[in-house]
Formats: sequence, structure tokens, C-alpha cells
Amino acid sequence: METKEFKAESKRLLEMMINSIYTHKEIFLRELISNASDAMDKLYFKSMSENTGITRSDMAIRIEADKDARTITLTDNGIGMTKDELENNLGTIAKSGSLAFKTENEKAEDVNIIGQFGVGFYSAFMVAKRVTVISKAYGAEQAYMWRSEGVDGYTIEEANKDTYGTQIILEVKDNADEENYDEFLQPYKIKSLIRKYSDYIRYPILMNEEHRKLKEGTEDEYETEIVTETLNSMTPIWKKSKNELTDEEYNGFYKDKYYDYDQPLTHIHTKTEGTATYTALMYIPAKAPFDYYSKNFEKGLTLYSNGVMIMEKCADLLPDYFSFVRGLVDSEDLSLNISREMLQHDRQLKLIAKSLEKSIKNELKKLQKNDREKYEKFFDAFGIQIKYGIYESFGANKENLQELLMFKSSFGGYVTLEEYVSRMKEEQKYIYFASGSSIARIEALPQTEMVKDKGYEILYFTDHVDEFTVQMMHDYNGKEFKSVSADDLGLETEAEKEEIKKAEEENKELFDFMTEKLSGKVKAVKLSQRLKTHPVCITSEGMLSVEMEKVLSAMPDEQANSAKAQKILEINAEHPIFAKLKSLYESDKDAVAMYADILYAQALLIEGMAIEDPVGFTNKICDIMSK
Ligand code: ADP
Ligand code: MG
Repeated sequence: METKEFKAESKRLLEMMINSIYTHKEIFLRELISNASDAMDKLYFKSMSENTGITRSDMAIRIEADKDARTITLTDNGIGMTKDELENNLGTIAKSGSLAFKTENEKAEDVNIIGQFGVGFYSAFMVAKRVTVISKAYGAEQAYMWRSEGVDGYTIEEANKDTYGTQIILEVKDNADEENYDEFLQPYKIKSLIRKYSDYIRYPILMNEEHRKLKEGTEDEYETEIVTETLNSMTPIWKKSKNELTDEEYNGFYKDKYYDYDQPLTHIHTKTEGTATYTALMYIPAKAPFDYYSKNFEKGLTLYSNGVMIMEKCADLLPDYFSFVRGLVDSEDLSLNISREMLQHDRQLKLIAKSLEKSIKNELKKLQKNDREKYEKFFDAFGIQIKYGIYESFGANKENLQELLMFKSSFGGYVTLEEYVSRMKEEQKYIYFASGSSIARIEALPQTEMVKDKGYEILYFTDHVDEFTVQMMHDYNGKEFKSVSADDLGLETEAEKEEIKKAEEENKELFDFMTEKLSGKVKAVKLSQRLKTHPVCITSEGMLSVEMEKVLSAMPDEQANSAKAQKILEINAEHPIFAKLKSLYESDKDAVAMYADILYAQALLIEGMAIEDPVGFTNKICDIMSK
């Protein structure tokens, strides 16, 4: 028997494993099983070139847990290891580069490294006080046993083993204060770990189970029967080809996996080769999950490397505006272990993410075109994400996302921007929109009168973010967005403009008087160019609209809070109230001041804004009523 020291780097990695405080020690099983699977792949490829007659169906991984002896044993009939290989592969693990990466990083990263990528064979030392590996290389005469209790070194000696392959025996640590190692000896735990991490390993993972059954010919005597169970389902649905799969199968997988009662709206199943090689299966849910808008929600896709789960939710694979997508990515380009390719993987991951984003967008575009009903359902549930996607990137994502946008419209139903522009009137300059808390409220807004009268379509903005989003966009294919409450609507002809200017000059004194009475509240009182039947409305000048002021004033941020729109009180020259104001201005200026107050308050109410002095307002109305 030879006793040997570990290489220095291996020692450090081992130390890290043995003393690991990592909470998901369970990944050791995933690591050992993936090694067994690799070993069987290697034998399979060897047998193909050498015609050994060995087929995949001869291969399996066996697991045994012995509660009394406190051992877990994994046996594979893969390619096995020679004495040299045992030494080189298990004695100097750090050559894989994982440690080189680790030492460059802070200790705080340990947990992350283990969690995201695992650290291969040595992870066994997170749960085992002694690890024994008995292996016989395929075609070799002699088997060898490698054994280690950790950093002190390992031994290698000859061993007896009938068949080729590798057997790993873990002597499980004793329970400690806050660590429960016993559970790893429980069949139910082992089963659930296999399902969680190794369900799609392509070789069967077998475990014998004792089943109690009624002894034949008796009514109350039992006997135990040993049943060999296959713990993994082996073929992942995403590895099958599209035309093998029905919608039922796709949806069944979705429901099982994500516990969603609703059918997904659609699925995306893509296989890509080239700069990024991967298979992805993604779903667009019909509704937001209950925790979607809570802090607890985690976006991300499950990441597999060749059927082995590496990460449950890989957030980097999805941009925030597509955070509703559920699904998984399986890529051969990502190895289980962190390794020298680590950084390259990162780049690989980015490439995959970019390519996934494109597929998601294309699928949504397809849905929008071919199944409008479903797309509208999607947009009801998640459209706000798309709007935020544009707003939060300060418009950088505009090109990418604008085609996915839809708004409710004065023409009925949802309209895309492309559709809006395609049906604009010839002389129409802008894409008009009106904001309010509900469609009913918006439809009643006096500001929409003239725009509607011209036959122009109006987008109805009911989400807080809507105005902010189009402000970031500025225009759609050269057509600027315009609020029906903006100061310059671009509706009237030059002649009409002249007329209004003249009327304003004629009544300059009246307007100056009212503006002064309302100073601090409005920037100006003007004649309206947009009202037809209604007496008054509020509009605004500049970047900040009345609607935006409303949204900002509801925010906790003080600076946002104090932002005020530059309001204009507009009066309809055709309305009898205007004639009344004119005559009162000659006879009773106090009355004009009171009317200005009332009209302003009315305009605020129409906007759905609070008035500053509701008691004063109602008293004034009552005064007039009792006259
Ligand atoms: P990785 O799997 O990334 O190479 P590991 O630490 O998991 O790193 O394993 C180290 C090496 O040990 C493997 O590359 C392989 O050569 C060898 N090995 C581990 N387990 C087995 C096994 N069951 N059969 C054959 N070789 C194995
Ligand atoms: Mg491995």
C-alpha cells in the first residue's frame, strides 16, 4: 500500500470541501453521478470504435444506501480507471483549473462556486468522512483501490473487482449540531435528489428498494421483497425532436414542472448550433404567477449541462422585460465544473442569452401576427414589462421592443403602433394619446373632443408607465407622440390660429385678470383650441404632463413629489360661460375671481385630481345655486 500526499492545490480545495458551510451539500450526488455518466459515455465511444459489442443498454448506475453501516455506494460500469488514472484524476483535481479560479477570488465566493458549478469529485468530502474508490479500467486485469480521509493524503493499493467500472463508497459523516447527514442515507432523500439534479442522465440510475408485501397464502403475514427501481426519467422532453411531441406533452411537462393550472400561452423549443450550442424549452405563461410582482419573485431559466442540472434559476439568461418566461436551457458548452473555461463560459452564457432573447421576441411577434387573441392575453398579463423595458433603458431598448407594444384605442380594442400609423389620416402629424385612470374616464375627457372630431385615433393610456415610455421613445418611425392635453396639438389651420389669437387679444384683460387670480396654480388662462362642447379643461406646457405629475406625486421620493406640470386653464369660447365671464368682467370682478376658482376646480376634477379646498368649492357652488 502506498500513501501519498495531495498536491498543494488539491489540498486547499479539499479543505474547502471538508469545512464547507455550504447549505446545499446535496450536490455531491449530482457530481458523482455525472462522473459515472461521463465514464459510461467514454466506454460507449470506445466500444463504437473498437466494436466491443457493449451497448448503452448494458450500462447503468447503481446506488445503495446502508443506514447501519452509514455508507452510500455508487457503482458504474463505465470505462474505469487504471492506477495511474486514479492518481492523476483524483489526486490532482485542481488541474482542472477550478482552484486557479477560486484562489483568485475572495473566500466569499466559495459558496457561489459550489452552488453554481459544483466542484466535482471532491464534493464527496462535504458529506463523507472517508471516500473509497475501487476501479478497474476497461480491458485491464488488475483493479485498484483509492482511499482518502481528506487533506492528509490518500492511499492506493491493489483490490479485487470482477468487472470493469468504478465503485465509490462514501462513509457518511456523523450528525453534528446543525448538520443532518443522516438524511442522505434515506432512500426518499436520494430519490428526490436524483429527480432534482440528475433526472435526465441518459443511463438508468437504479436503487434496490424493500417492499413489504403480503405473504402468499396468508392474510396477515408479510415478507419483504427487493424491487429494483429506476430513479430517473432519462430522456428529457427537450431532447426529443419537435415533431415527436404533441401540445399535450409540452403542456403536461409545463404543468408538472411549474405547478401552474393554466395552460401556457405558447412554448418555444429551439435547438441551436454554432457560436452557442444549446437546446431551450421555454414557455409564456397565461397569467403572472402570484408572486410575480413581489420581492420574492426570481426570474431565470434552469440551466442544464448535458442533462445535468447546474442552476435552478439562471437570472442572466433573461432580460427583465422577459422575466415572465419559464423554462430551461441545456448546453453542452457548459461544463459541470468551473474550470479554465470559466470565463469563456461566461461569454458563452451571454451568447446564449442574446440568442434566447431573439427567439422569445420572434415568438411573441409571431403570436401577435397569427393569434391576436392569445397575444392580447399575453399583453394583458405582461405588457407592462415591455413598457418598463423601454422606459428603464431610457429608450435604448426601443428598437428591440416597440413592435411588441399595444395600446387600447379610441377605435376600439388594442392597436399596435404599426397599425396606428398605417391608418393615420393623411394630414395627421402626430400619434395622439390621452391618459387617465380608466378607459371610461379617458373617453369622457374634454381634451379628446377636437382630436376625435378630426377623425384621428387616440391611444388610451391607463398604465402609469405609459406616458413615461413614449416620452423615452419620442417617436415611432418618425411620428411623434402627442398628448391630447399638450399645448400645441397641431390640429388647427393657420386661419383658425389667427382667429383664436385675435379673440385672445380682444379679451386680454379678462385672461390676465383670471391668470392673476389663479397665480401659483396655473401658468395661464387661455382660449381653447380643442374644446367643442365642454366649458373648460386643463392642459400643460413642457415635458411634464398633468398625468405624469399625478404619478410622480404618488411616489415616496421627495424630489419626484414636488415636480409640477405647467398647467394651462383652457376656456371654450363657444360655451355660454365665456360670454358670462365677459359680461361679469365689466360689472362684477369679484364674481369673475370666484368663477375662475370654480372653473379651475372643475377642470381638476375632470382630470381626476384632488382639489385643494373642497369645502370652499362646494360652498361657492351653493352660493351660486341659492342666488
Ligand atoms: P471533471 O468531471 O470535471 O473532470 P471531477 O472532479 O468530477 O472533474 O472528476 C475528475 C476526474 O476523475 C474525471 O475527469 C475522471 O477522469 C475521473 N473520474 C471521476 N469519477 C469517475 C468514474 N466514476 N469513472 C471513471 N473516471 C472517473
Ligand atoms: Mg465531474
